[in-house]
Amino acid sequence: MKTLYDVIVVGGGGSGLAAAVSAAENGMDVAILEKNSHLGGTTGIAIGSFSANRTLLQRKAGIEDTLESHVEDAAKFADPEIDSRNNDDLRRFFLGHSGETIQWLMDMGVSFYGPNPEPPNRVPRMHNAIPNAKAYIAALQVRLLRLRGTIICKTPVCKLVCDNGQVNGVEARIEGKSTLFKAKQGVVLATGDYPNSAEIIAKYKGPQYSNIGGINETATGDGHLLAREVGARLVNMDLTYGPEIRFIPSRKKNLTQILPAKGPLARIMGRLMPLVPQAVVNTVIKRLLVTWQHPENAILDDGAILVNSRGGRFCDETRWPDREIAIAAQPDGICYLLLDKRLIERYSAWPHFVSTAPEIAYAYVADYLRLRPDIAVSDNSVERVAQRRNIPPGALRQTVESFNRFATGITSDPFDRGGNVRPLDGNRWVLLGPAKAYFTTTAGGVAIDEQLHVLDDSGSPIPGLYAVGLVGTGGQVLWGHGLNIAWALTSGRLVGKCIANSDSFALPYS
Ligand SMILES: Cc1cc2nc3c(=O)[nH]c(=O)nc-3n(C[C@H](O)[C@H](O)[C@H](O)COP(=O)(O)OP(=O)(O)OC[C@H]3O[C@@H](n4cnc5c(N)ncnc54)[C@H](O)[C@@H]3O)c2cc1C
Repeated sequence: MKTLYDVIVVGGGGSGLAAAVSAAENGMDVAILEKNSHLGGTTGIAIGSFSANRTLLQRKAGIEDTLESHVEDAAKFADPEIDSRNNDDLRRFFLGHSGETIQWLMDMGVSFYGPNPEPPNRVPRMHNAIPNAKAYIAALQVRLLRLRGTIICKTPVCKLVCDNGQVNGVEARIEGKSTLFKAKQGVVLATGDYPNSAEIIAKYKGPQYSNIGGINETATGDGHLLAREVGARLVNMDLTYGPEIRFIPSRKKNLTQILPAKGPLARIMGRLMPLVPQAVVNTVIKRLLVTWQHPENAILDDGAILVNSRGGRFCDETRWPDREIAIAAQPDGICYLLLDKRLIERYSAWPHFVSTAPEIAYAYVADYLRLRPDIAVSDNSVERVAQRRNIPPGALRQTVESFNRFATGITSDPFDRGGNVRPLDGNRWVLLGPAKAYFTTTAGGVAIDEQLHVLDDSGSPIPGLYAVGLVGTGGQVLWGHGLNIAWALTSGRLVGKCIANSDSFALPYS
């Protein structure tokens, strides 16, 4: 097996594929080493929104945009306290290149619809890949193979190899055997984030969060650990998007997962998209809205209760993040939201929705009952709705009765619940769930410069080592929809050029 390349990319998700394509486009011989049996990573399960400014699609829609306004608006998504920790220079640098990345992807055959509005963005900036983020993976993989790049799956990298302070290779395991891969011009870490590493989460965020996992089970922060071992500085490791409650995904593939992500059919779909009535587009999007989605906290603030699989309450449903920590401690880490007739009616029409992709579409109780019968059941009594989820009916009835005694002021609440409390009653009941507490993404990454070099504790580049995507956030807070993928693919697109232009590193391998 060939083990010597110009560039080794560790990780075959969105940023890694983009990095490998850009290395190959810049004339380098590149290999991706991917630990899973397939490419994609978190990018491969994502929706695919991509925020960018000054794009062709914006111009076609008559939208005038500027870098300055996008820089200002990107700062408005996170709480000011969190955004004060952002790496402003790097986020500006990234946003300055995001539009070119969309063009690069379109030239590769990725089709987008939008741009869609997403306040506080002052103009529509959210471009959505058709049918979803798999389109990125498909287009980049085809392009890489055409450029004669190498992809090696089932090959977890377990060590960065250094020589005189320069990273010049990696050690990977292939079928249990350690194999050395050498890189003449650079190693690019593209290993994604760490929501599913109990160790990293416990160390940087606190042990109370360590039972909460990520949506992508293999997002375990390997690259963060590999980089730290060679002296990289890690930044903002306690910052996470979430934890938040999300419904478990369906076992059935939804429509957008079945639609082709590459080839002529995908291109035709892209061309036809502007002609499709918005109502139809919204129906397709609605299916996405009921997959991994996060039920709005307002439902709990308005009086819904959380119960576990034994039918009991276990927390103050309105208190974040203690609520999520408590969910993770329940049997199998699962919970259900119980809605009575009043709440069902309230969450059946605007502005009270169960979940949303802002400004695009909204999913209500009826949408869940229709599109996700695996996580939404309805019946005319507490006992019957409990039975439909194998929750002990008597226990759920007792829970409701005890909650109602608190809601009518007869007793106090063992969990000291806040929010809008009213007795639960009526002849319609809905249980939404199973749901779990998840970290959606993590924001901590290795420190990098604008050449995508990994920096050490003193701020100096570690020769030969680059980072892109979520392992290489460099302290950016990327809270708006579409910024993570935009960063992953933009940093990947740029790194090939950075390596090609770097004269600081050229190994004497022949
Ligand atoms: C359900 C969901 C929906 C989302 N939707 C959106 C969206 O619409 N828009 C948006 O901007 N963001 C979205 N995000 C976030 C976004 O998808 C990710 O942040 C982004 O795609 C990460 O890209 P990446 O290339 O850094 O990591 P990944 O795509 O996760 O790629 C990392 C790759 O590295 C591999 N790897 C890891 N360790 C090793 C190792 N030791 N050796 C070899 N390979 C390794 C992994 O297996 C993986 O394939 C979503 C996230 C989730 C969970």
